Amino acid sequence: MIPRLYVADDLRKGTRFQADERAAHYLLNVLRRGSGDPLLLFNGSDGEYRGRIAEAAKRRLILEALELSREQDEEPDLWLCFAPLKKDAVDFLVEKGTELGVSRFQPVLTAHTASNRINQTRLTAVAIEAAEQCERLTVPEVFEPISLEALRTGWKDDRRLLVCAEAGDALPIAEALSRLTSDVRISHRFAVLIGPEGGFQDDELDRLKKLHFVTPVGLGPRILRAETAALAALAAFQAILGDGAKRPPKTA
Ligand code: SAM
Repeated sequence: MIPRLYVADDLRKGTRFQADERAAHYLLNVLRRGSGDPLLLFNGSDGEYRGRIAEAAKRRLILEALELSREQDEEPDLWLCFAPLKKDAVDFLVEKGTELGVSRFQPVLTAHTASNRINQTRLTAVAIEAAEQCERLTVPEVFEPISLEALRTGWKDDRRLLVCAEAGDALPIAEALSRLTSDVRISHRFAVLIGPEGGFQDDELDRLKKLHFVTPVGLGPRILRAETAALAALAAFQAILGDGAKRPPKTA
């Protein structure tokens, strides 16, 4: 298996740079690679490069970009807004959300939110590892938590917010997406909002549903765990309106 690494450095044919600690540990200690071994490199903006370990010494690992293997391609602009969950559940959510093409993770504090803090550094590391494994060309951003009120007041009209509503009126997600007018489907960007384990307060859901950029969606008759609901909504979105029709690079 050729290791695939996210790097912060600019990538051009022939670029050489020192690997950061995370990459050095992974290549030298975990994968036991050495000088000359092949790599795949991406940095979120210059595409993907075939590369190699140019120099491998105990405290210094030099990587080299050899040739462009994939052009930087546009990836979906899809946000996941979620009420912070317990550590394992939020790690799971970020890993799977990254695989499902989320471009931004926005924690949102609601009335029943279990915890109002997240570890942005750890979650960013989870997103980087998932992006490396699922062969995407970007790494989603993990933002600091904001209140539901701040989300509402700061929202831009050109992004449609799909609110996963466990109660009250909500069309099944497939029907809700297919009923969106073609201009919304084409011109708008999208976001999914998932409530906390304790659920949205009724008045929170009522106020959200009155907003012109909100589409409430149902995810079936069962009460799903928040992280399950997020995956169900993201997978449905990608299949119906997103990039679900595209094929992985190797088979392109
Ligand atoms: N405690 C809540 C209750 O008992 O009604 C359940 C909250 S659920 C564990 C967490 C979040 O997942 C909800 O706020 C909602 O966003 C989403 N969710 C779960 N099941 C859903 C469904 N069947 N339809 C739409 N959203 C759902």
